[in-house]
Amino acid sequence: MKRVCILGSTGSVGVSTLDVLARHRDRYEVFALTAHSRADELFAQCLQWRPRFAALPDASQARDLQQRLRGAGCPTDVLAGAGALCELAAHPDVDAVMAAIVGAAGLAPCLAAARAGKRLLLANKEALVVGGALFMQAVREGGATLLPIDSEHSAIFQCLPEDPSTWHARIDHIVLTASGGPFRTRDPATLRDVTPDEACAHPNWVMGRKISVDSATMMNKALEVIEGRWLFDLPPEQVRVVIHPQSIVHSMVVCRDNSVLAQLGTPDMRVPIAYGLSFPERIESGASRLDFASLATLSFEAPDFARYPGLQLAWDTLRGPEGSTTVLNAANEEAVAAFLAGTIRFDQIHSVNARTLEALSIAPDEAASIDALMALDTRSRRCASQHVTTLAR
Ligand code: NAD
Ligand code: MG
Repeated sequence: MKRVCILGSTGSVGVSTLDVLARHRDRYEVFALTAHSRADELFAQCLQWRPRFAALPDASQARDLQQRLRGAGCPTDVLAGAGALCELAAHPDVDAVMAAIVGAAGLAPCLAAARAGKRLLLANKEALVVGGALFMQAVREGGATLLPIDSEHSAIFQCLPEDPSTWHARIDHIVLTASGGPFRTRDPATLRDVTPDEACAHPNWVMGRKISVDSATMMNKALEVIEGRWLFDLPPEQVRVVIHPQSIVHSMVVCRDNSVLAQLGTPDMRVPIAYGLSFPERIESGASRLDFASLATLSFEAPDFARYPGLQLAWDTLRGPEGSTTVLNAANEEAVAAFLAGTIRFDQIHSVNARTLEALSIAPDEAASIDALMALDTRSRRCASQHVTTLAR
């Protein structure tokens, strides 16, 4: 039995992970579940799974949950605070950690899992965008097994041999596919009027609100370019993007001989999650099978950088001073939160990101350690929220 800790179990990826685990109760045991605010959902998950631990950041919410669980005869111990996430992610009894927290808030527990040498299933792309080379160093030094859960990176991982030391010699470049989100064909002049609900209505995937907005701006793809650079140790120019509206081809590896390897399937996160859990084996995921006869078309087009100005920031920040991707991620988290709260317009998300990158100059020591990067993250958020305030006037 493998014991699994799910960070962010109440979110979209967290719930899909439990769905896969429910199909394999003979192989996996849920050791810990954590959430941010949805205590009722966490309560229901604890009753169903009876994990050894649960965690919530807020101490009084955690006490309430503990009482409710005891009242219901559930043996789960509830921990409180951000430190609890690191403790659980590195717990000696944990085999695999699903990192499904959204945003830079997931970095610390991801690092704890990496340093403790866990099998780390990484959905939380922001953690890698913030931590960059230092994150990958922690994975190496801790002897962790890092498995991509983002569907594009899982696709590339599935196209490559198991031994990473063979990758460099065979890859010319990788191509991340992008659906283009809900506004691929919308008149750009109307993008300023987009509402949060319109931005979150993704054509192919049902996801949390932050990643849904990122998909609409294509900042999600920008973060994924940065993620791909680190996961596969490729220079920025060897990570490319193509629009593929059907989300059937999940990404591709173009080899040195121009042979192209692709991974296909219905858009369902349970496939990369099941592969992350069972690698190098394969287990049932619950996803429906692709029906080739009813697939009308698979189409591809170049991304329109005028429609999606944020996409270019991936390569710009990767080529910029170290720490630039940390600044971009922090600005974007602030900008998306402000858009979802109705404070700024959809098209102003990019303005906040671009202005924050322009305004901040990064000293070399600000990217010298994880603590320094976290301080840079805080400084970038302050700068971004000033831009938000200015735009909101
Ligand atoms: P979500 O908003 O649905 O869920 C986020 C989870 O994290 C929730 O359980 C929430 O309680 C928890 N959380 C939020 N803020 C937290 C904080 N500050 N501290 C601790 N816990 C916190 O998000 P999601 O769509 O499941 O995405 C999770 C991550 O996976 C993101 O990084 C996203 O980019 C990535 N991802 C998601 C999908 C998808 O299909 N949803 C696909 C690829 C990658
Ligand atoms: Mg993705």
